[in-house]
Amino acid sequence: MGMSGTLLTVTAPSGAGKTTLVHGLLLRDQGLRLSVSYTTRAPREGEENGREYHFVDVESFQKMREAGGFVEWAEVHGNYYGTSRAWLAAQLEQGRDTVLEIDWQGALQVREAFPDVVSVFVLPPSLAELENRLRGRGTDNEEIIARRLHAAHGEMRHAREFAYVIINEHLPTAVDDLAAIVRAARLRYASQHMRYPHYFAFFTQD
Ligand code: ADP
Ligand code: 5GP
Repeated sequence: MGMSGTLLTVTAPSGAGKTTLVHGLLLRDQGLRLSVSYTTRAPREGEENGREYHFVDVESFQKMREAGGFVEWAEVHGNYYGTSRAWLAAQLEQGRDTVLEIDWQGALQVREAFPDVVSVFVLPPSLAELENRLRGRGTDNEEIIARRLHAAHGEMRHAREFAYVIINEHLPTAVDDLAAIVRAARLRYASQHMRYPHYFAFFTQD
């Protein structure tokens, strides 16, 4: 896969607010596309197949994985999740800036495939606030909340492997932070050169 568009991964323990943050970013920035992952998790109330996720059974997921259909995949909280290789390749080859909302294991796999990826880790202000948010979201039962809180501790230790960290305390500030990261990424030499080759022509010729 050749890389042209800017690729961003956003990672956080469940409940830290990454979906909310990415949603805020996408509202502001029409130039970004969000990857719709494949998952074996059951849809939550209000989720639609093909919008939040492509919901598939374990057998279909495994077939797709064996066929090399995922650029990354991971088991998270007992379910499988993966990013379509074909979809991502098509976006990047067309120069589209793309966001992946994936867990830390997937983000590290993406970095292997795309060393220029912009990796962001979102932290909650505290574990107590993370618990409040998981409960407040009202989408998971107590057992799932307990499992996610337990996992959060281990997941947050991986923040150091990411290029950027956002502490999602005050939501508008956190969205500003994420937008600033995207803006800076688009100003990298390679991105500017790809978007505006004619600007570079006059001093790179001869
Ligand atoms: P994630 O995608 O990381 O699992 P969500 O985006 O679903 O998390 O957010 C979890 C809950 O926390 C949601 O109810 C969301 O509205 C709330 N939330 C997100 N960011 C903030 C914030 N900065 N302050 C207060 N609540 C927030
Ligand atoms: P949820 O079930 O709450 O939507 O997501 C649970 C976790 O799976 C989150 O950490 C989310 O980022 C992660 N996730 C969602 N899609 C993918 C994916 O395609 N790949 C990987 N590795 N993780 C994903």
